[in-house]
Amino acid sequence: MGRMQGFGTTIFAEMSALAVRTGAINLGQGFPDEDGPAGVLAAAVASIEGGGNQYPPGPGLPVLRRAVAEQRRERYGLDYDPDTEVLVTVGATEAIASAVLALTENGDEVIAFEPFYDSYAATIALSGAVLRPVTLRPSGGRFTFDPGELRAAVTPRTRAILVNTPHNPCGTVFTGEELAEIAALCVEHDLVAITDEVYEYLTFDDAVHRPLAAFEGMRERTVSISSAGKTFSVTGWKTGWVCAPARYVDAVRTVKQFLTYVGSGPWQEAVAHGLAHELDWVEALRKTLQSKRDRLMTGLEAAGFTVLRPQGTYFVQADISGLGHTDGLTLARALPELAGVVCVPTQVFYADPSRGARYVRFAFCKKDEVIDEAVARLRRL
Ligand code: PMP
Ligand code: GLN
Repeated sequence: MGRMQGFGTTIFAEMSALAVRTGAINLGQGFPDEDGPAGVLAAAVASIEGGGNQYPPGPGLPVLRRAVAEQRRERYGLDYDPDTEVLVTVGATEAIASAVLALTENGDEVIAFEPFYDSYAATIALSGAVLRPVTLRPSGGRFTFDPGELRAAVTPRTRAILVNTPHNPCGTVFTGEELAEIAALCVEHDLVAITDEVYEYLTFDDAVHRPLAAFEGMRERTVSISSAGKTFSVTGWKTGWVCAPARYVDAVRTVKQFLTYVGSGPWQEAVAHGLAHELDWVEALRKTLQSKRDRLMTGLEAAGFTVLRPQGTYFVQADISGLGHTDGLTLARALPELAGVVCVPTQVFYADPSRGARYVRFAFCKKDEVIDEAVARLRRL
């Protein structure tokens, strides 16, 4: 109904329910099957037991805002004032929604690389803006965009560009050249960039995550978003943040305060601890995920899928056409019956599903034995 017409249940809910109903191995929804660092978990318990159970301040607990500002400075050389330029949100999802709602008007156009995380299209529709997709396609062993297509997507109505790197579901980590291309376009056309960097720590081989805000002319026009879910394997904690110039943070906070008012306090304290003290754990997670990526890719190839090597995230896009299938949604719905495995059909992340019909997404943030069993089952397809 209303602005949500055409947006039903999310594919993650549908596929996870299918996994529960059929008992299939769930390589669909991206969540790890092992807990985050013990110190982070203990910090949440300590906060609860220490009385941190009432509303935190509107912009988020100061300890987390300071930890986020410190992390952006240490890791990327970007300076944000924790009092005016950092906002804590209920996951990256709320940050993205609040940013789009705050910064676009009815009829404005927002560019997003397709396939895109499913909340983007819904959020843009909620705001009354119009989504302009730019499709990522395989080229040189990875999914990337054509700079000419990106430029052609800009119109006089374009207000913002949503940039997700490392990219879910393609696993692309945009290179410096690609980001410079995007940055130049933003500066030339006076666009706002909203960046989704939730996989900022999960990069592989020699890929390096670079925030768009670090490029020339971008600090003042970028709303940078990240969250703790992927970094500390606490996807259920829904604790994220925005770093941006104060005028953007003010606008985003105004929306956020009427969506959720504030997020939960104990997670904020625990995530602050994580950013300050547990990044060695995160580096170990990154290495483990890299070997899981290779394990799953080898298995998927042996099972007849064509896969491109993701440079980041914990997802692999698998082309199903080599197996004689043409429609990912049909295959994903049948896969629990056929093989006892759940994946996600990536066509739902495309503005025109036919462009993504040949792909399904598998998650590799799972125990090795779970990946091995899933692969053994898929090889019997
Ligand atoms: N963006 C991307 C690209 C994601 O994969 C996810 C899923 N975690 C989110 C945003 C949402 O993050 P959060 O759970 O922090 O809201
Ligand atoms: N980010 C995770 C994924 O892409 C989970 C998202 C969700 O459940 N909304 O699978």
